[in-house]
Amino acid sequence: MAAAAAAASFRALLDLCKRRGFLYQSAEIYGGLRGAYDYGPLGVELKKNILNSWWQRHVYWRDDVVGLDTSILTPHPVLKASGHVDEFTDLLVDCILTKERFRPDKAPALEFLPTDKDNVSGGGRIPVDAPDKATAKAWQKLVEEQIAPNIKTTLEGKRIMLHVNAFVQPDSQGQKGRIDFASKTGDCSIPLDYNGYVEPNSNSPFLTASRPFNLMFKTFLDPIDPIDRVIQTTTQQHENNNNNLTSVREAVDQVLRPSTVYLRPETAQGVFINFEQVTRTMNKRPPFGIAQIGKSFRNEIRLEHGIFRTPEFEQLELEYFIPPWESSHWFKYWREQRFKWWLEHACHKENFRQRDHEKNEMAHYATGCTDVEYLYPWGWGEVEGVAHRGNYDLTQHIKNSAAAFEVVEEEARVSSPHIEADDCLIPAEKPVRYVPHVIESSCGLNRAMLAYLCDAFHQVSEGNNKPPRNILRLHPRLAPVKCAVMPLTGKPEFMPLAESVAKTLRRRGWFTMVEAQKLKIGKRYYRHDEIGTPWCVTVDYQSLEDETVTIRDRDTGSQERIHWRDVQRFINDRLMEDEEL
Ligand code: ATP
Repeated sequence: MAAAAAAASFRALLDLCKRRGFLYQSAEIYGGLRGAYDYGPLGVELKKNILNSWWQRHVYWRDDVVGLDTSILTPHPVLKASGHVDEFTDLLVDCILTKERFRPDKAPALEFLPTDKDNVSGGGRIPVDAPDKATAKAWQKLVEEQIAPNIKTTLEGKRIMLHVNAFVQPDSQGQKGRIDFASKTGDCSIPLDYNGYVEPNSNSPFLTASRPFNLMFKTFLDPIDPIDRVIQTTTQQHENNNNNLTSVREAVDQVLRPSTVYLRPETAQGVFINFEQVTRTMNKRPPFGIAQIGKSFRNEIRLEHGIFRTPEFEQLELEYFIPPWESSHWFKYWREQRFKWWLEHACHKENFRQRDHEKNEMAHYATGCTDVEYLYPWGWGEVEGVAHRGNYDLTQHIKNSAAAFEVVEEEARVSSPHIEADDCLIPAEKPVRYVPHVIESSCGLNRAMLAYLCDAFHQVSEGNNKPPRNILRLHPRLAPVKCAVMPLTGKPEFMPLAESVAKTLRRRGWFTMVEAQKLKIGKRYYRHDEIGTPWCVTVDYQSLEDETVTIRDRDTGSQERIHWRDVQRFINDRLMEDEEL
């Protein structure tokens, strides 16, 4: 029931995002592009406010971090050196029946209906759900004739029931899983390996083995159409040598290699390859950081939950370079700092947590990783990873290029008395030479936006069978519209003062709307509660006499009367109220 309510509330939130201009399906007038979203006027403001808070805390408020903006198009050698060409893969499985491709680590376990509830390893049924009756019929035929000949099945509407004699679960001690299907003739069993997961949409257990699938988008920087180049140079070779398909593939790759570029799968590599330039031009030495915000691209096979997992997304990344002997200190420091940032703008702090990675979960470059997770309506999901990347990336680029990334210091210095250096890593010889270690924090801006929207979304019952009223209790610093200015009625005499108030707020860089529609003032307040506007200013008859206006608070509904020239200070004071300086 709780899960159903959470799903309904998430649907209501997505509806609000679409209706009120936070989020649109990309290319909707052409039927949309799967997994691609456009951010509407309010979405873009919310995203910008999250981004600004991040940049402010990590660049402007510190003297040890500088910014960078590097190219999205990344040449093959960079990502070959970083390990992404060979190792940036997801293991994927194909369903032989439904033709769906999916990630086994995110797939559900088999739904099995035992005949005898006390003996779940005995006989029973496996339901396979088709989208409609005709497909169910076609799938039944495919199973019986090609995938598992002679297997016993029955059809129940859109469901195919696979009859089972025995079912063995895989276990952590290494016992393999197995399904023994019943045969049509009833005289034997037809065995199938079961690895603990099924195709997520249908519960089909008919799967291929898992295979690695590279997540990077490849493209070509080439004045000649790469397809033409391939046709010209490989067709002839193929005909002459009568090559098989694999060697044609290799020949194609070889022809295209010089012009192959990738859309970066993370912004970090652009930072690493510029390490020396930044230290030289900005006169920086570890410990110091480079921050970058920008788009990354991953050919995600399973797109999930609106903007939670998309092929194109923005990352807020900080690469903090340190002497190796200070790495434990800075890993701990950044884990704490980053978690504090997440909580600063949260309504429900208990819905954010940190989770340390198990060894087998970590990326190929990491020696330690802690995720920040948010409790989304469908469960805990990663919003950020804080990783100890060691000196893996800089070392790889040193090996594969002429990069001079080593730092040389006369003394092994510990930058601050608060830092407990890791003695065993302090080099004995002087001058000290080392390749800096890196602590990275990497956060998805779109996921952050979704987390804060879910966190802020509240539905208030209005009673009398009325639909609930939506309120977005976004932190005022994140709210897209900071203030709505409302002349009491549509009468023109209120407009000059309303415009003056709006102008003072706009000059501060706050997105301000003037709402002069002929709607009751209460309705206009509610429309702004729904998009998270923290304050509404009303210009009324008294304003014309004494230049005062009322200012209403979204969360308490309380109103104060102040001089219109004080509105800017009123809002500014509240925006700074809980800001940690
Ligand atoms: P996941 O396990 O969810 O695929 P990941 O561990 O591969 O994520 P990282 O490589 O650590 O993710 O990327 C850092 C951050 O970038 C993530 O915490 C997430 O916020 C964001 N991110 C990664 N992939 C996507 C995506 N496809 N869509 C939106 N955000 C993403």
